[in-house]
Amino acid sequence: MARPEMPKPEPVHPSLLDLDLPRLEDLAVSLGEPNFRGRQLWQWLHDRRAPSLEAMANLPKDFRARLAERFAAWTLTELAHRTAADGLTEKWLYAAADEGQGEQNRAAVETVLIREQRERRRTVCVSCMAGCPLECAFCATGLGGFERNLTRGEILEQVYRVDAACRKGATTESRTPNGHADGV
Ligand code: SF4
Repeated sequence: MARPEMPKPEPVHPSLLDLDLPRLEDLAVSLGEPNFRGRQLWQWLHDRRAPSLEAMANLPKDFRARLAERFAAWTLTELAHRTAADGLTEKWLYAAADEGQGEQNRAAVETVLIREQRERRRTVCVSCMAGCPLECAFCATGLGGFERNLTRGEILEQVYRVDAACRKGATTESRTPNGHADGV
């Protein structure tokens, strides 16, 4: 019997990271707030990299509650995290917040952090799509097919998450071979 085709995942609860500054200002005004609330939102999202609306302490509670009905700050769910034996490479697997999908059926997002051993540099490889349309025979991602492009917010969130993980692990990191504890 033919397998029923699963609906393509769609992102749910859009991320505020998808919106540029003018759109954040318009959003604030549309919710009855002064224009400057949009800039405050921007600062929380990009300067302080707040993962949730709850963390945005200087925004009025009712404004945050109205925002939370339609948006989230970070939307990915971490499913797995692995560190290579040399301690220099880390890989994360996230599930995107796709409508009507169980955690295991949501679009999968992979992010890799590579530390240069000799230089004070880190490289973050982010996903810009879930799955891949090219179907290279040796690749598990390709065999799973193409699901959807990721949003700007989902791509940016990967960078912010790795940065947060690096800052959190800075003490541990100072014991790794490169000895660097600066951010991404
Ligand atoms: S199928 Fe895999 S190896 Fe081929 S392009 Fe896509 S991600 Fe890369």
